[in-house]
Amino acid sequence: MSLLRLHLLGSPVLRQRSAEVGNVDDDARRLVVDMFETMDAAKGIGLAANQVGIARRIAVVDADGDRFALIDPVIVEAEGSDTAEEGCLSIPEIYGDVTRPDRIVIEAMDQEGNRYRKEASGLKARAIQHEIDHLDGILFLDHLSLIKRQMLLAKYRREHKDDTGHTKEVQAATARSE
Ligand code: ZN
Repeated sequence: MSLLRLHLLGSPVLRQRSAEVGNVDDDARRLVVDMFETMDAAKGIGLAANQVGIARRIAVVDADGDRFALIDPVIVEAEGSDTAEEGCLSIPEIYGDVTRPDRIVIEAMDQEGNRYRKEASGLKARAIQHEIDHLDGILFLDHLSLIKRQMLLAKYRREHKDDTGHTKEVQAATARSE
């Protein structure tokens, strides 16, 4: 297992539409393991593969006590509407209110390549939609009004003006006990 470098706003891979996985091979399985580890270390509730520089349709989510991989996920039903604050590991310290459907049904594959169907609402539904957006090159900022987005982008640029490059290392959380 290894921690992967996070790609931050400005990294072109975040704007790419990721490629279908199709066959879940060892590379995909290894990536899922590393993504879970990276998400945990970064204290996120979701992580998409392009956030670690790999443009494949793979994401991991850990929300409301449910932990799962999403490979080639598709939203097959969506209803209702809910507005809540979102942030993103690729856009540190920036938050904004995003309106999304509040109940969804998805179909995806797990890391064994098994197809499954999952119903989600609340935080879990939000996290899944945020990650699927990533796979399509969409960031939560894109859901905000132009004015709000420009304000947050200006704030981000101010706070990150000394950054070199568009990736950052994820520090391991406290040492794990065996
Ligand atoms: Zn994100």
